[in-house]
Amino acid sequence: MSLIRQNLQAITATIVATAQESGRLPDAVRLLAVSKTFGPEAVLEAVDAGQRAFGENYLQEGVDKIQAVQQALGEAGPALEWHFIGPIQSNKTRPIAENFAWVHTVEREKIAQRLSEQRPASLAPLQICLQVNISGEASKSGVAPQEVAALADKVAALPNLTLRGLMAIPEPTDDFDQQRAAFAQLRTLYDQLRADGLALDTLSMGMSADLRAAIVEGATIVRVGSAIFGARQYNKA
Ligand SMILES: *Cc1c(COP(=O)(O)O)cnc(C)c1O
Repeated sequence: MSLIRQNLQAITATIVATAQESGRLPDAVRLLAVSKTFGPEAVLEAVDAGQRAFGENYLQEGVDKIQAVQQALGEAGPALEWHFIGPIQSNKTRPIAENFAWVHTVEREKIAQRLSEQRPASLAPLQICLQVNISGEASKSGVAPQEVAALADKVAALPNLTLRGLMAIPEPTDDFDQQRAAFAQLRTLYDQLRADGLALDTLSMGMSADLRAAIVEGATIVRVGSAIFGARQYNKA
């Protein structure tokens, strides 16, 4: 059995077990396979093992990979769902709007407006999560927690976007309770937005190293890369 298939099975087993331990339904947690830095062949191997949702961080790499994978699978192949999870430059929104089904990293109104304007009419609305900076000064990415509600109202009103929820990348720690505390902050914000009347259903949180804590705190999408595809090498220059 291929290593990627084996890893997918192990992660899925962890998701199911952790959901059950915390009184959640196992299929309430979706696995997003983060394929950044890995080639189309790795994605195809995961597809062969039944994986359908993939996350990419780097725009050009992602767009090239989507095309290569789509070509390899052909018209009759399974439908895949591509999620953009990397930093967004405001002059590079169009290829995101044209090639991805989801964007997890919206942190400014201007970016959301551009994504909405540039979303092709032939495609379903772009599914959006707002990235929240729950680690304060430790991270430069994400909207500040006290500004989430205002941004959420604006994004929810844009025509070609569907606001689904919140995303965060907490400061890494090996301590399970600290991991939980960070995810609990995101969950509290999410609960407040829902109480205020926004129809959200997505908490995108948890990666290879903090997957379990995220599920215990209510993650509905976990974004897992290295635990599926192996260690990444960035020195491709
Ligand atoms: C790389 C990345 C992941 C996956 O990280 P792993 O530790 O490899 O599981 C998840 N989310 C985002 C936003 C990433 O950039």
